[in-house]
Amino acid sequence: MEFDHIIIRYGEMALKGKNKKQFILQLKKNLKQKFTSFSNLHVIRSRDQMYIKLNGEDHEKVIEKCQEVFGIQSMNVAMKVENDVDKIKEGALYALREAKNAKTFKVTTKRPNKQFPIGSQEMNQVLGGHLLSNTDQYTVNVRNPDVEIRVEIRQDATYIMSGKIQGLGGLPVGTTGNTLLLLSGGIDSPVAGYLALKRGVKVEAIHFHSPPFTSERAKQKVLDLAHTLTKYGHQLKVHIVPFTELQQKIFREIPEGYGMTVMRRMMLRVSERLAEREGILSLTTGESLGQVASQTMESMNVINEVTNYPIIRPLVTMDKLDIIDISREIGTYEISIRPYEDCCTVFVPKQPKTKPRKEKIHQFEDPIDFTPDIEKILENVETVTISEKSPRKELFEDLL
Ligand code: ATP
Ligand code: MG
Repeated sequence: MEFDHIIIRYGEMALKGKNKKQFILQLKKNLKQKFTSFSNLHVIRSRDQMYIKLNGEDHEKVIEKCQEVFGIQSMNVAMKVENDVDKIKEGALYALREAKNAKTFKVTTKRPNKQFPIGSQEMNQVLGGHLLSNTDQYTVNVRNPDVEIRVEIRQDATYIMSGKIQGLGGLPVGTTGNTLLLLSGGIDSPVAGYLALKRGVKVEAIHFHSPPFTSERAKQKVLDLAHTLTKYGHQLKVHIVPFTELQQKIFREIPEGYGMTVMRRMMLRVSERLAEREGILSLTTGESLGQVASQTMESMNVINEVTNYPIIRPLVTMDKLDIIDISREIGTYEISIRPYEDCCTVFVPKQPKTKPRKEKIHQFEDPIDFTPDIEKILENVETVTISEKSPRKELFEDLL
């Protein structure tokens, strides 16, 4: 006897009226991409839940994969047995033993099939008694059990489910449009990318690279971060932008205190152009209000002036410590703290303006023609497509 399928419950998409079918189809597609190494699985969708027939595959491994897919609220492992009391007893016992960390349990029976001769209350007692007399370590707790064994006696068969397993929630990636994530090597922007993916957005990344001031290792770090995000987004295009010449021009031509502000404005201009070229409708950053000079309200106002694109800032009101918690959970933290400089750290002025003024910016920026520089950058973007299956180069791990 073993679990033979997994039942998947949708999250918020259960509410999505007319679009619901599209959300469900996307979830099914995303799940299938996750399941390439399980050739026997069969995914069946219905309006209210999805069933994965295991056909002999290990349910724990399949669950692990499901826990990397957005759009799943919760899951149950389940088994189908005949409408026969002994078979149901045997199934319930198996289900309880599989809940390895549980100490208390409760049995909840539903009996839509009224031809079945035993009522649901009585079945709870029959099964509870059977479980207690065949195990040592469990007791019953009706109010707050560690595991609930749910038994549904239907027309065709009885379904036994145990333990609700949490999913990631969110919406299936690919259902709410796309975004260009400004991905640095820091802690914040990968978390911002993760949260955009969680909201169902397909993510591509842009990284501003300034060789020789920033090293190949800094670039590799960004690719490794992108690779980590593919766990949730399947595939990620990373556009690497050669930023050195433009940065040098900014720091030659613009008074030092305003260099950072102008540089940020350039990043947005280039990002918007690239997004347009790629058919992407929004930008996403890891900005968080008040964190650094470029993220004061005044800076955000002045920097944002150069684009009409929606900018998604998933972290804008979050505390750093909470952001770090997420980065640890999703596996980007250890990569982000590798000590390689990124372009902003290298060129950062000693005293960047925390309250830049628009008139000043225009006074400094308007007389200089940056168009050819931006065009040149766009012609020389290097694009790498990273997928979950691409081998991850752990090039520098041994040196750390
Ligand atoms: P992060 O940890 O994401 O680097 P941060 O707190 O260090 O963020 P900043 O360095 O001011 O903040 O950057 C703010 C945002 O600008 C980043 O979250 C990221 O979205 C974007 N950004 C910064 N540097 C780069 C870069 N080299 N390439 C692409 N985007 C960048
Ligand atoms: Mg940074």
